[in-house]
Amino acid sequence: MSPEIGQFRRIVLKVGSALLVDRARGRLNHAWLAALAEDIADLHARGADVLVVSSGAIAMGRTVLGLPAGPLKLEESQAAAAVGQIALARTWSEVLAHHGITAGQILVTLSDTEERRRYLNARATTLKLLEMRAVPVINENDTVATSEIRYGDNDRLAARVATMIGADLLVLFSDIDGLYTAPPASDPNAEHLPIVERITPAIEAMAGGAASEISRGGMRTKVEAAKIATSGGTHMVIADGRTKNPLKRVAEGGRCTWFLTPSNPATARKTWIAGALEPRGTLYVDEGAARALQSGASLLPVGVRRVEGSFARGDAVTIRDDQRILGRGLVAYDADDAARIIGRPSREIEAILGYPGRTEMVHRDDLALTDRTVIPASLSA
Ligand code: GLU
Repeated sequence: MSPEIGQFRRIVLKVGSALLVDRARGRLNHAWLAALAEDIADLHARGADVLVVSSGAIAMGRTVLGLPAGPLKLEESQAAAAVGQIALARTWSEVLAHHGITAGQILVTLSDTEERRRYLNARATTLKLLEMRAVPVINENDTVATSEIRYGDNDRLAARVATMIGADLLVLFSDIDGLYTAPPASDPNAEHLPIVERITPAIEAMAGGAASEISRGGMRTKVEAAKIATSGGTHMVIADGRTKNPLKRVAEGGRCTWFLTPSNPATARKTWIAGALEPRGTLYVDEGAARALQSGASLLPVGVRRVEGSFARGDAVTIRDDQRILGRGLVAYDADDAARIIGRPSREIEAILGYPGRTEMVHRDDLALTDRTVIPASLSA
């Protein structure tokens, strides 16, 4: 059984250049976009958080600048993106405003999702926009991203963003209605796959390499995106975006391919905190804090007795009492600042540090307790 769109609470929609930009005229497909905005408004009205990852900057900018068809040099695509992104952002802002929804532009580079400190900032900003019920409209910051540090395709970018903000669904709108056992255009025996439970080498082999001139991602980058999404606890669906109201179509059972995740975003994040990061220091907590952690609370500065190691905000640290290791978490302060506020109530943080920091030393969302999460023996020391 495929999941229902209505069950998801945080949804990332990825819209490709080929759908947004009319290739012949190099203009935005306004009518189509306005219909998609209706779909977004429906989701938004029933309380879901919605984010859009929108391509199209380069495709639009190249027409405005009169660049010839065919592959562009890096500086040319950067110049095109600089011109096209303005129009793209304005259009999103207008079509969403029509439904009373505020849009906020976020331009990210690879390092914003891969480097921990920047990751935390990008995540915090995005979550703040969602909290204020705005719809973040995200694209790669193509004008500053050089080839080595570029995603280059918004499929994988969207998957990273989706896992970063703990989305439970990523929808990739494409010019095809999902994954087939072979390219359907050239193979009459190609069969459509409605559900992919696990991405096996056989599934990867089905995703050929084709990418059109206007958009970069072929089926291969979509399956790569599915790997990133599903291992981060996010379900993903590839759906045909060429019809009007494409999301409504998926909701009504239209043909598409679901990639299911065995996990959920919260569990995946905790597993990541528990296993993937090397701890940079240790927080020794008192008995009261140890008990509070076990009952699901965050770790407050007042419950920390001693700080060891030289860590930065966002690093993983080991949390322990005198007897044993309690778990790991992402710490909200650099080691020096942490040392200054331990043992103190959170309301004094601003007076001590001179800036209003986080109430928690380690927020419970950033905490993986040893007896709740499986920490591999090799990592738990
Ligand atoms: N970031 C590129 C743009 O906005 C698009 C990349 C893609 O097509 O996936 O033009």
